[in-house]
Amino acid sequence: MQKWALEMKRAGIPVALVPTMGALHQGHYSLIRSARRTVGEQGVIVVSIYINPMQFGACEDLTSYPRNLKEDLAGCRREGVDLVFAPRDKAMYANCPGQAHSTVVIESDISRTMEGASRPEHFKGVTTVVCKLFMLTLPEFAVFGAKDYQQAAVIRRMAGNLNIPVKISVAPTVREKDGLAMSSRNIHLKPIQRQQAKVLHESIQEARKLLHGHQKHEINVRQLKKNIEKHIQRYDEARLDYLEFFDPNTFKTRNMIRTGTHMALAVYFGKTRLIDNGRL
Ligand code: AMP
Repeated sequence: MQKWALEMKRAGIPVALVPTMGALHQGHYSLIRSARRTVGEQGVIVVSIYINPMQFGACEDLTSYPRNLKEDLAGCRREGVDLVFAPRDKAMYANCPGQAHSTVVIESDISRTMEGASRPEHFKGVTTVVCKLFMLTLPEFAVFGAKDYQQAAVIRRMAGNLNIPVKISVAPTVREKDGLAMSSRNIHLKPIQRQQAKVLHESIQEARKLLHGHQKHEINVRQLKKNIEKHIQRYDEARLDYLEFFDPNTFKTRNMIRTGTHMALAVYFGKTRLIDNGRL
């Protein structure tokens, strides 16, 4: 991978990287199209497909995570992807013969809350693997999805802090008709859970409605949380993991919610955990 990337660099051909865990859907394909617009016809697009064990907690869904490499490859070919990088664990984590993989990358500010609080080792795995993918593919551009808003911010912070010369862009969340954010994990939902999974997006819209129905477009966080939690409780399959309102740049939580405050939530349906976010 790195040899090819170095050849591209020497030839002056820009690389755009789209990191994924596979089981590709329209959300991923929209990132690939955005990468093409960024890099142009002269540039090349690399899609990485790698289910990174380091970012899964011990009790999480690593073994049941959807895998569909054959269809993913066909989809990437259809979308004009130049190279798919789908390494094995052995290649990613034992690349120094006889030596353990003992180096990690940790972002220690904005990765502490929400996904980081709920999944303590998660972002360490994400920053480590994305840093490795950057070193392997030497991209000038990398595209991430707004669906994982905190992840994109953590990666941008990492690249800035470590002086990695990659321009990061964030493409909008692609949704199903009822508002559910597309996700590889959605196929694990039972029909009743799939029906109720629209509650994530609905909650964001409900928060917008409540905020803008308020005088001065300002609302106390406790009041808004109570309202949204009540809304979620109407769906018997849904179990709220977290619901947060925060400054979109600093990720600090807010007491007073105003236009521009960001909302994010995670909700379990059985064992399946879904996330969503949006600007209010
Ligand atoms: P994943 O394969 O779930 O790790 O996601 C790979 C990339 O695709 C990440 O940058 C995600 O944020 C992005 N992504 C996943 N789902 C969507 C979606 N529904 N809309 C936009 N981007 C997405």
